[in-house]
Amino acid sequence: MEIRIAHLFPELLNLYGDGGNIICIQKRCDWRGIFVKVDQIHAGDSVDFGNTDIIFVGGGTDREQKIVCSELLAVKQQLHDYVEAGGVLLAVCGGYQLLGHNYLLGDELVEGVGVIDLKTERGEGRLIGNVMIESDICKMPIVGYENHGGRTYLGDCEPLGKVTSAGGYGNNGTDGYEGVHYKNVIGTYLHGPLLPKNPQVCDYLLKTALARRYGSEFDFPDLDDTIENNANLVMQERLKANVVN
Ligand code: GLN
Repeated sequence: MEIRIAHLFPELLNLYGDGGNIICIQKRCDWRGIFVKVDQIHAGDSVDFGNTDIIFVGGGTDREQKIVCSELLAVKQQLHDYVEAGGVLLAVCGGYQLLGHNYLLGDELVEGVGVIDLKTERGEGRLIGNVMIESDICKMPIVGYENHGGRTYLGDCEPLGKVTSAGGYGNNGTDGYEGVHYKNVIGTYLHGPLLPKNPQVCDYLLKTALARRYGSEFDFPDLDDTIENNANLVMQERLKANVVN
């Protein structure tokens, strides 16, 4: 059994260790005897997502996003076809913003790939800190760290979850929603990296991707997540106690 990951523009979109999400997917597959192949997609590469199970796009600064925007636009149709065909995609922060129609930076408009009906605009100040959300995709609260100037507004699509009273800003700091869940795409502002402290999110993505390749009956054994779940709980406690960092 194998799984193929396409990591888009790792040298440009990799804030706060977002690449750690790939390591997490690899480890959780290794422990289950699933072979993982990671294809790094660099600027100018031609792409074919026909054999891809998971696409990952990390976060980036505004400057990096401007650079990467034209690269993403070059693969817009492939991304659109992949997403509409139920391909699994995880995008964090800057990568999440670029899945939408555009990112308005003052007078400047950074065009997104528009595979999801959402848009982002730069607000006053940055939304920074630890965050905890509740989502339908897993039982445990999802914890992470956010740092973004952009405010994202969803159109005809569902959020990934709701920001809990423990803290955090989410998409825009006003409507209480965090991220997006559209078909098999998850976009989120949660760095962390996201997956190591939220193993249930990792397994949700993996199960979805493997079921797509090997059939809906597909399942795999749970792992002993004592350490990962403890890390999640520690962060929950710190958020509830209002501890910064
Ligand atoms: N540059 C974007 C913003 O500030 C995304 C930053 C990030 O990926 N953390 O909104």
